[in-house]
Amino acid sequence: MSLLIKNCTLRDKEGLYDLFCEGKTITKVGPSLDVSADKVIDAKGKLVVPALIEPHIHLDKVNILDNVKKNVSGTLTEAIEIIWDRKRTYTNEDVLVRASDVIERALAAGTLGMRTHVDIDTIGGLKPLNGVLALRDKYDGIMKLQLVAFPQEGIIKDPGCDKLMDEAMKMGCDIVGGMPANENNPEDSLAHVKFCFDLAEKYDADIDMHVDETDDPFYRTLEMVADETIRRGWEGRVTAGHTCALAAYDDHYASYVIEKVARAEMTMCTNPCTNLLLQGRLDKQPIRRGITRVKELLDAGVNVVFGQDCVNDTFYPLGSADMLMCANVTVHAAQMSLPPELETVFDMITVNANKLLKFDGYGVDEGCTANLVVIDAKNIREAMAFAPNRPYVIREGKVIVENTRETVFKF
Ligand SMILES: [Zn+2]
Repeated sequence: MSLLIKNCTLRDKEGLYDLFCEGKTITKVGPSLDVSADKVIDAKGKLVVPALIEPHIHLDKVNILDNVKKNVSGTLTEAIEIIWDRKRTYTNEDVLVRASDVIERALAAGTLGMRTHVDIDTIGGLKPLNGVLALRDKYDGIMKLQLVAFPQEGIIKDPGCDKLMDEAMKMGCDIVGGMPANENNPEDSLAHVKFCFDLAEKYDADIDMHVDETDDPFYRTLEMVADETIRRGWEGRVTAGHTCALAAYDDHYASYVIEKVARAEMTMCTNPCTNLLLQGRLDKQPIRRGITRVKELLDAGVNVVFGQDCVNDTFYPLGSADMLMCANVTVHAAQMSLPPELETVFDMITVNANKLLKFDGYGVDEGCTANLVVIDAKNIREAMAFAPNRPYVIREGKVIVENTRETVFKF
């Protein structure tokens, strides 16, 4: 099976290019290729980029907002507590219905890989994980799903969670999650971090923790995670999500911690959509943005990505699972509006995020795997400004999504 995609605009090249794919591989890239193919599509000058990647979402919780109590305070604490009753009643069917909607939105928007955190605690037990495992089976070969065992309710303060975390890794989670700030004191936070690294060593797994999702500068578990990463030789294998408190530290302590994060070769995942809403909630003016120090981390050479995090749940009522819309919010939240900064924001949902999802042959060059999205834009600036239609999404050389969006002016 061969596929020819004609008249593509590529991110780093002038003029139009054709892409010829044989099987799952891009074998030729050039202007006006003289080849015959089983299937030919015309990009008509639109932008073609590698598949978009979502590095941080919670698929077990999506679309629950209509069936839970309302969050009155708007805080993270209340968002977590409201879910307790709901997650006791999760079934596979329930998770499949709610999360399939989000996966299909993401596919239609050109995302082919997602890293999802799954609640592991003594409230829902392994019900959320069973649902997400069924989801992974349903989209096998279509959407690459990485599963993170996520102790949302803490580990030390949720007796029994340690055994469930181990069971979750046995059942098929890929990555050890954590939330060390959600313990009763710093000693327990450190014990939480050490438990996660022990588990990661046992299963030879990467780690992706929710770290200091608070604007209280006295939460300092990011430094614990960076120290433990270096101590265990887990450099390059650890991601810290949210890290909002880093923005609340004084500049001196922040730069001290960022240096350790860089040395630990950690990836930092900011989630501006959710954190712009949840953090600074109790501030009078000026209200803090609540997102982590994106530019300083980038300047220190840290791999930075961003995620949607939440879709229609108690934490965040919107959410489209469209990484271009998240990119738009990130441009604003991180104040990354200069031309090279826009390029960097686009990198965060492509090459930077692929350091986590690890698609083989990621890119739009000869020899790369043809995981591609055609975006109705001339360049990445337009892509992030308009979040426009994506006429074709291609997975391993096959068109798996066609989108049409037609506007008819009646004036
Ligand atoms: Zn999260």
